[in-house]
Amino acid sequence: MSTEFDHIVIGAGISGLGAAHFSARRGRRTLVLEASERVGGCINSPSFAALNGFWTEAGGHTCFNSYGHLLSILDDLGLTQQVQPKRKVGYKLWKQGQRRSISSALHLFEAARSLPKLFTAPKAGRSVRDYYGTVLGQRNYQDLLQHAFQAVICQPADDYPAEALFRRKPRRKDVMKAFTFAQGIATIPNAIAAQSALDVRTRQQIAHIDSSDTGFRVQLQDGSLLQSAYLTLAVPPDVAAQLLPTGFEAARALVADIGMAEIETLVLIFRHDDLKHLPPIAGLIAVEDAFYSAVSRDFLPDAQYRGFAFHFRPSVLDAETQIHRACAALGVSAERIAAQTSVQNRLPALRAGHLARVTQLDAALAGTRLALTGNWFLGVSMEDALTRSHSEHVRLFGAEI
Ligand SMILES: Cc1cc2nc3c(=O)[nH]c(=O)nc-3n(C[C@H](O)[C@H](O)[C@H](O)COP(=O)(O)OP(=O)(O)OC[C@H]3O[C@@H](n4cnc5c(N)ncnc54)[C@H](O)[C@@H]3O)c2cc1C
Repeated sequence: MSTEFDHIVIGAGISGLGAAHFSARRGRRTLVLEASERVGGCINSPSFAALNGFWTEAGGHTCFNSYGHLLSILDDLGLTQQVQPKRKVGYKLWKQGQRRSISSALHLFEAARSLPKLFTAPKAGRSVRDYYGTVLGQRNYQDLLQHAFQAVICQPADDYPAEALFRRKPRRKDVMKAFTFAQGIATIPNAIAAQSALDVRTRQQIAHIDSSDTGFRVQLQDGSLLQSAYLTLAVPPDVAAQLLPTGFEAARALVADIGMAEIETLVLIFRHDDLKHLPPIAGLIAVEDAFYSAVSRDFLPDAQYRGFAFHFRPSVLDAETQIHRACAALGVSAERIAAQTSVQNRLPALRAGHLARVTQLDAALAGTRLALTGNWFLGVSMEDALTRSHSEHVRLFGAEI
């Protein structure tokens, strides 16, 4: 096995795989090191062999035609033609033990009165509560928006930076607005990692990284040593703080106190017949419950099964009680579960003013051969992560001609 590379990428979520894809396309010998047993990170579409391979999304579930960097990768891989439309089904609120319509929590008069501020109120540097409370009204924020935002980022939303949510991006007209794949979004990381131009190694435990003027030495816990001219860290900020080599103290200080939100995701599968009472649904937005949200697989219906991922707050309910809470929200007995699995997800807990920190971080990295990428720069969407990976790629390797 080769030990010398032009570029080593640590972390095989979409940020790291994107960074590796960009450099491998430019002919750089690229290695990806992933700690876990699979690629994809927060993109994870577990399937159940005993249920004819039925799968459901345990993490990222929707891509949009505004995801330009993602679509450029899909073009490279010949996957753009394989995208599947998502059936339009709506979310419901889960409040005080009942499924309710979203509009039941909307204060229309207040929204109409506040809405003009949408065109004038500045977003930069403001928290989600501050900005959205202004542009849609405090009652709308309290009763609906805070829960909807929590459902998206799977953590309390009040102090999150408003500018890191819903960034406007140009849309590609030749691609459907919202899409998935026949085998789920995990199709994307799996296809990137399967390219022969990339060396992707899972179950890799990194012990230590050294840097010099000419590159990096990555020592693994099994004692092996790998070398590269360039290094990209595509791991959560707490892991990046541990892995940053000596010489990157300023960057480490800026990264070290970025928080992470832990999410306990429970995936439950049922037979159609056991959920006849529940019309197709995109998912549930919980109002003050032990879970933030549930996302269903109803956007790509299957003849036999329906799947749901419940994203629970950490350390609130034990595994058994989570199952009963999720079943209560779906109105079905736990005895009817056809299959289940649990997944640990993590998302960054960004705070207002985060983009100013990123500017400082970029100054600390300028002129070095080390890139930092992830879903903790511009925002948490897959495209935000890939936008960062691409700009770091250009910094390390120059713009494509
Ligand atoms: C429940 C949920 C729903 C979501 N829905 C959507 C959606 O619909 N649309 C959308 O655009 N986005 C969505 N997102 C966000 C998006 O999926 C993620 O932000 C994005 O996939 C993160 O990619 P990443 O590579 O930055 O990080 P991660 O996916 O977290 O990848 C980091 C990788 O680094 C690895 N790693 C960690 N430590 C080490 C180490 N020491 N050595 C080597 N490797 C290490 C991890 O195992 C992991 O594979 C969702 C996220 C969640 C959790």
